[in-house]
Amino acid sequence: MERFDPGRQPSGRTPAPGRLGLVQAFANSFWDLDGGGADEWADAAGYGRWLAARGFGGGERVSEDDRVRAIELREALRRIALGHHDGVAPEASDMVVLNTAARSAPLALRFEPDGSAIHVPSGDGPDAALALVLGVVAEAQADGRWSRVKACPGPHCGWLFYDASRNRSRQWCSMEICGNRVKGREFRARRRGAQEVA
Ligand SMILES: [Zn+2]
Repeated sequence: MERFDPGRQPSGRTPAPGRLGLVQAFANSFWDLDGGGADEWADAAGYGRWLAARGFGGGERVSEDDRVRAIELREALRRIALGHHDGVAPEASDMVVLNTAARSAPLALRFEPDGSAIHVPSGDGPDAALALVLGVVAEAQADGRWSRVKACPGPHCGWLFYDASRNRSRQWCSMEICGNRVKGREFRARRRGAQEVA
């Protein structure tokens, strides 16, 4: 698997472009849709397999502590991406998670033939994976794409998607999966309310 492969998208939604695909795949290693989802990182071995599939090494060197740190970062990124719908400032506690990961992130800068600078991790293994995720987030902040990365607010969803729409108005992972369900729920709630009044 290519390192920046964003994976399959619900209902064929356009995936995050370029290197942001890694951040999307990182967050969407867990998709608990309706509580029936599966966490690819349910144990250290699973996290190791995910890392190995993306060329970060991993395998037997991945500890439970590595897995817990990765999940903390994953869920902090998801909460931050949820805030992108309304442009709200991130929680201080989530910044602590990012800064803790950044402190031990073995990152270097590399200049590409076109003159642009990208972050590259030194070495491999779990620390390199977290480092590269943070590096790609920083790149996306610099070029304005980070705020287009949103977490689906659907109940028990949280899928990280890329809002490529001109006016940045996308709400859901997909209309078919969460959009219509939530609209249906709101409709039923309104109807119940109307009946109570009548
Ligand atoms: Zn959703």
